Amino acid sequence: MAGRDKAANQLIEQKTELQKDTSPATTAHGVPLIEKDAVMTVGPRGPILLQDVAFVEEIAHFDRERIPERVVHAKGAGAFGYFEVTHDITKYTAARVFEKIGKKTRVAVRFSTVGGESGSADTVRDPRGFAVKFYSDDGIWDLVGNNTPIFFIRDPILFPSFIHTQKRNPATHLKDPDMFWDFITLRPETTHQVMFLFSDRGIPDGYRHMNGYGSHTFKLVNAEGKPVYCKFHYKTAQKIKNLDVKKADEYAGIDPDYGIKDLYNAIAKGEYPSWNFSIQVMTLEQAEKCKFNPFDLTKIWPHGEYPLIPVGKMVLDRNPANYFAEVEQIAFSPAHMIPGIEPSPDKMLLGRLFSYGDTHRHRLGTNYLQFPVNCPFKVRNYQRDGPQCMNNQGGAPNYHPNSFAGPENCPRAKLLSPPIPVSGDAKRYDTGDEDNFSQPRVFYQKTLNEQERERLVSNIVGNLKNAADFIQDRAVKNFSQVDATFGQKIADGLKAQRRPHANL
Ligand code: NDP
Repeated sequence: MAGRDKAANQLIEQKTELQKDTSPATTAHGVPLIEKDAVMTVGPRGPILLQDVAFVEEIAHFDRERIPERVVHAKGAGAFGYFEVTHDITKYTAARVFEKIGKKTRVAVRFSTVGGESGSADTVRDPRGFAVKFYSDDGIWDLVGNNTPIFFIRDPILFPSFIHTQKRNPATHLKDPDMFWDFITLRPETTHQVMFLFSDRGIPDGYRHMNGYGSHTFKLVNAEGKPVYCKFHYKTAQKIKNLDVKKADEYAGIDPDYGIKDLYNAIAKGEYPSWNFSIQVMTLEQAEKCKFNPFDLTKIWPHGEYPLIPVGKMVLDRNPANYFAEVEQIAFSPAHMIPGIEPSPDKMLLGRLFSYGDTHRHRLGTNYLQFPVNCPFKVRNYQRDGPQCMNNQGGAPNYHPNSFAGPENCPRAKLLSPPIPVSGDAKRYDTGDEDNFSQPRVFYQKTLNEQERERLVSNIVGNLKNAADFIQDRAVKNFSQVDATFGQKIADGLKAQRRPHANL
């Protein structure tokens, strides 16, 4: 149909194909239906008969259509494609994904907003999820990152509290600026990410025009079993593009699915988005001497000291054919690593290793890895049964050790998992005061230009003005520690907007 985009024409475009199938409608157990559009009643106005099992089945299935929404990253867009190696990094890692130049690995990607519900607008100021599933020859590798190289907190015990402040007030069911800014200002390690969030990149123009980051520090291990630490980066080949605040607000009203639609239409038209993939590397010796904690998720590794090393490119060339099966039920977990890629001591990463699988077992069930999008591979292990078990591995033994040719350990995987040296006293270390402002200072003073700084101040003021005055004051104090002028500009902006009798 003229004048409509590919997403709008989805039903029309598949009609010709569907018309070839002339078989009748059926129940879920495959029995042809007598009448799709009428229940069985006693007389035309009469009560319904329980023997209309087709109706009962239809309603019972409808009642169960929704699975629990993701607590975070509920609204998202998915796509499929491939990752291709363009540069050799085998001196750092023996991971099969990076085995040789030209090697292609299939990928699934889910982009998302973080705080909003499944029906919320795509154009809000929020970090964006950037999760990539690599279907590698050694099983699934999930790199579950964001469009920012850092995060708000560095200790995972704060995660539930932090997310609560991004969601709804449990009494009013409203987003609550006091909750948000209270937490942010009481935990100043959030400052760096808050400044990213309120900078221009806080509202990307759809999902194609933003960078992605593995965000955490990981460990790579080469064929000799030698480890280095690393960070992963995806730079958009479409160029960074952001929405200005006015436009974003407008889309939130008239086109709330802007991001999903933009990605779908680009791929449907053959304009495949791509990202250049690179790593930063730090040796274990460099990590020992590093002047900041290289495992702190609120910090970047400066490019000057740890330059980007090109690795490959990711291209997205297929839209999901079944959004629910392939995107709503796709289950990423940072715990899904492959030989040659390991966790570092990054506390946030280690906390996430547990929480993602736990969420999937709750949302999707214990056999979520048997869903085709999550693991299309042959799996050999000793796990059996559970809800929706599709594969019980034939007649293979369900215990180990056994005398019946059940699967054994993999020597290669063992070589690629060297011992982890650790030392120190086990205790709870509150890291709240650990160098919260030096990198935000570089960001403010060196990375942003004058206009970007002005917009950062204006975006912060526009949001912070809704918080209670004492919280505003605390925020100004924190931002002043980044840069005195920055703090002063925010204070001036707030003063100009301060409501009479606020805090009553
Ligand atoms: P560089 O000058 O080498 O890097 C600066 C980085 O800032 C570039 O990657 C650039 O991304 C990115 N950037 C530009 N504008 C914004 C924005 N509004 N929001 C987020 N990122 C932006 O310097 P350093 O590596 O020494 O880093 C300096 C500061 O830049 C850091 O303290 C940090 O705040 C910020 N930064 C650093 C990153 C890193 O991994 N080193 C990544 C992102 C930000 P691009 O190249 O795509 O334009």
